[in-house]
Amino acid sequence: MKTKLLASLALGVAAVLVALGLRAPTRDAKHTLRWPVMGTRAQLTVRGDAAAGERLRPVVQAAYARLDGLLSAWNPDSELSRLAAAGCTDWVAAASAEVRPCYAAALRLAAESGNAFNPRVGKALRALGVSGGGAYAAFDLGAIAKGFAVDVAAREIVRTCSPHAPPSLLLDLGGNLRVVGEGTWRTGIRNPFDREGPLVGVLALTNGESVATSGNYERFIERDGVRLSHILDGRTGEPVCGVAAVTVVTPPEDGALLADGLSTTLFVLGPAEGTRFLARHYPRALALWIPDTPEAPRIVATRAMARRLAHALWPMEALPAP
Ligand code: ADP
Ligand code: MG
Repeated sequence: MKTKLLASLALGVAAVLVALGLRAPTRDAKHTLRWPVMGTRAQLTVRGDAAAGERLRPVVQAAYARLDGLLSAWNPDSELSRLAAAGCTDWVAAASAEVRPCYAAALRLAAESGNAFNPRVGKALRALGVSGGGAYAAFDLGAIAKGFAVDVAAREIVRTCSPHAPPSLLLDLGGNLRVVGEGTWRTGIRNPFDREGPLVGVLALTNGESVATSGNYERFIERDGVRLSHILDGRTGEPVCGVAAVTVVTPPEDGALLADGLSTTLFVLGPAEGTRFLARHYPRALALWIPDTPEAPRIVATRAMARRLAHALWPMEALPAP
């Protein structure tokens, strides 16, 4: 009798230990949902609460699908395609209310960057054979549409969860990331010269921050043996050389749209001009460039980015504050 009691007590104690041991890791476990959309991959990662991820997935999915119907360059029935076919000139006025800010942001970035960022590059891209073109030949939203969609999804998550705070989660649409809810998320920057190699560095993101990367390694063309990027200098229509990748972090008030648009703009401008541009127009954004010198890889970063980047794989050069 006594031994039986002792044995069950011992079992009880063992069970408690196992439960505690399991609870610590599961509280922080991440649940990731993935699906294809907008010609890329969408990812929703929720920390801790798997059921919350399943509940929020349709909210995010519906937002992306709706925006794809408005902004897709490939779907001939999208609003963008119909406006392009009709020879639209005043896009901001013609677009439906929800996507008007996306067109307006593209035109604003063009004005601020002296057309280094330029939604009219679509035709030149098509001529070079880098991009299929589609309706982007009339108005190229390729550099900001995904970031815009992430901001819309983030807003809808907050609205859906209200009056409660949303769970800690990370949205990722083709490399455009935004944190929603409390908590810190760590994200790695891939090596543009060796996609499977060790990370170039790690960034910790907190509530509402976004990060985007533009690179010449996923989509490019070769001319005379030189790899040219799918990003053109909007001032000249020529493919940009000299930069392998740019990563930008933006605060909540700037969002994923700007991280996406700025990564493209700063890819064109390069570190020297890019830092002056940021100081003037987006002083809260953080940026780093990886020059296209695989034989001597290095990182060039704004001061705030140099402070934020952890585990830098290569020598890092902090840009002088302008
Ligand atoms: P990705 O979408 O490939 O991750 P980006 O966000 O940098 O990379 O966007 C690249 C896309 O932006 C190109 O495919 C093209 O549609 C468009 N683009 C290229 N050059 C420019 C430019 N100078 N200004 C605006 N958009 C551009
Ligand atoms: Mg971009």
